[in-house]
Amino acid sequence: MEKTYGTAASPGIVRARAFFYERVVPVSGRPFSGAEAELARFLAARDEAVGQLLGLRDKASVEIGEEEAAIFEIGAMMLQDEDYAACVEEAVRDRSLAAERAVAEASESFSAQLAASGDAYLSARAADVKDASARVVGILCGGRTAPEPDGPVVLVADDLLPSETVSMDRSLLLGIATSGGSPNAHTAILARSMGIPAVVCLGPAAGRSAHGRDVVLDGDNGVLVLDPDAAEAGAADSRAAEAAARKASLQSLRGLENRTRGGRLVDVFANAGSQADVEAALANDAGGIGLLRSEFLYLEKDRYPTEEELFSSYRAAAESMAGRKVVIRTLDVGADKSAPYLGLAAEENPALGLRAVRLCLSRPALFNTQLRAILRASAYGTVAIMFPMIATVRDVEECLRALDGARAELQAEGVSFDPCLETGIMIETPAAALVAADLASLVDFFSVGTNDLAQYTLAADRQNAAVRSYYDQGHPAVMRLIGMAARAAKDAGLWIGVCGELAADASRTAELLAMGVDELSVSPSSVLALRARIRELD
Ligand code: PEP
Ligand code: MG
Repeated sequence: MEKTYGTAASPGIVRARAFFYERVVPVSGRPFSGAEAELARFLAARDEAVGQLLGLRDKASVEIGEEEAAIFEIGAMMLQDEDYAACVEEAVRDRSLAAERAVAEASESFSAQLAASGDAYLSARAADVKDASARVVGILCGGRTAPEPDGPVVLVADDLLPSETVSMDRSLLLGIATSGGSPNAHTAILARSMGIPAVVCLGPAAGRSAHGRDVVLDGDNGVLVLDPDAAEAGAADSRAAEAAARKASLQSLRGLENRTRGGRLVDVFANAGSQADVEAALANDAGGIGLLRSEFLYLEKDRYPTEEELFSSYRAAAESMAGRKVVIRTLDVGADKSAPYLGLAAEENPALGLRAVRLCLSRPALFNTQLRAILRASAYGTVAIMFPMIATVRDVEECLRALDGARAELQAEGVSFDPCLETGIMIETPAAALVAADLASLVDFFSVGTNDLAQYTLAADRQNAAVRSYYDQGHPAVMRLIGMAARAAKDAGLWIGVCGELAADASRTAELLAMGVDELSVSPSSVLALRARIRELD
C-alpha cells in the first residue's frame, strides 16, 4: 500500500481502478511537406478542432452549466485568433516546420506570454490555449483527445485539460488524481460541478505506474492510496456509503420548512450562473435564487447580448422558479472577468477599478439594456434586482435613477413589469458595511458578498494563491462588518441575506442567524445540507 498526500480539489471519497491517461505528443520526426501543404493541414485540423470545441460547449452546457461551457467557446475563439494563425504560419514558412510542430510551438509561446502577463484572468487562459492547441495537434497526428477507459475509473494524469474531462463518458469518471494542476484550475472547478472527488499536486504517485491498480481517492483530505490494504479499502467503502446515505437522507427535507429548533424561519436560496443552475436549484428544492450572476450571458459571447436575449434568459429563470424569488444581479464584469468586445482598459489594480456598477454607470446604454430586460422579466415571476460593488450612497442613487429611467421608458411603451419589484444591493465592500445605515434608507434588501468583502477587508486578492492564508471569509473583521450591515438592515426593517461562500459554511450558520441574517444563498448542491444544519440550531 502507498499513501500520497496532495491538495484536495473536490470533496468525496471513492475506491476504483486507476486509469492513466497521457495526452498525445507531436510526432517530431514527420517530414516537412512544403509550406502550402503544411498550412492547408493546419487550417483543416484547426477547423475540425473548432467544430469539436463547439460540440463540447453544447455538451457541457447541457450536462454541467453555462459557466463551464464558456471555457470551450473561449478555446475555439483562441484558435481562430489571427495572431495565433500568424505565429503558426511563420514557423511553417520561415523555419520549415511540419504543422504539428508549428502548432506546438505557437501553443508554448502564446501560453507563456499569457502566463507571464501578471493578470490573473489572462494567466488562467494559458491552460485554455494549451488545451485547444493539443486538440489540433491530436487531430494532425491522428491521436487521442480524450481518455477512453473500458469501465468506471479514477482518472490519473499529469494534468488534465477541461476538454479531456468533459469529453469523457461521465458514468465512467469516478474521480480525478493529477500529479500537477491546481485546486483553482478549470478541471478542479469542473470536478466540483460534477460532484466527483479530485486531488491535485500528487507528484509522481499519479503517474503511469498507477495504471490498472486499485486506488482510494479521498477528495476531502487530499489523499491518494495505491493498492489499499483491506482496512483502508473497508474504511473508504464505509465512508462512501455514509456519504451516499447522508445525501439520500437529505432528500427527506424536500418540501419541509426551514425552521431552527427555536422555530425561526430561514430562507435557503441557491446561487445560479445559468439556466442549468436554476434547474439544479429546483432539483435541490431551493426556496429561490438568491444570486443570479448574469455576467456569463456576456462573457460567452463575442458581442453585446441584445435586450431580447437577456430578457428571454431572465424570463426563463423567473418562470422556472414559478413564484419563488429570483434575485437578478446586474452585470459584474471588470477585475478578473472580461471579454474582448467590452473593450475594457487595462488597469493596474483591476479589483479596485472600473468593475460592476462602476462600469455600468459609466456606460448608460449597456446598463439600460439590462435594466429593461430585468424589469420586463419581472412580469413573469417574482423578480428582484440587485446592484453589485456598491461603495457609496451616490452609487445607489445613480443606480436607482437609471432604474427609474428604464421604468419610465417601458411605461411609455406600454410594456408590463412588476411595479413592486424589490431593489437591493450587495454589501461586498467594507465601505458599504460601514455606511449601511445610510444605504438602508434607499433599498429593500441587502445581500452580503463575502467573497469580495473578505478580499477588500483583508487586502488579500481572492485569486492569488500566495496570499491564501490571509483570505479568510470568517475572519473577525469580516464577521464584524456583516454584523454592522445586519444591524442597519434590521433597524431599517430590511431583509438581509448572505450570498458569498461563507453562507455554505456550517460552522458559521449559528453566528450569521444570531446577527439577524434572514436568507442564505449557496450553490445548488449545498442547499439540502444547509437546510439540515439550520434544523439543528436553537
Ligand atoms: C461575492 O463577492 O461574495 C459574490 C457573491 O459575488 P462574486 O463571487 O460573483 O463576486
Ligand atoms: Mg462579488
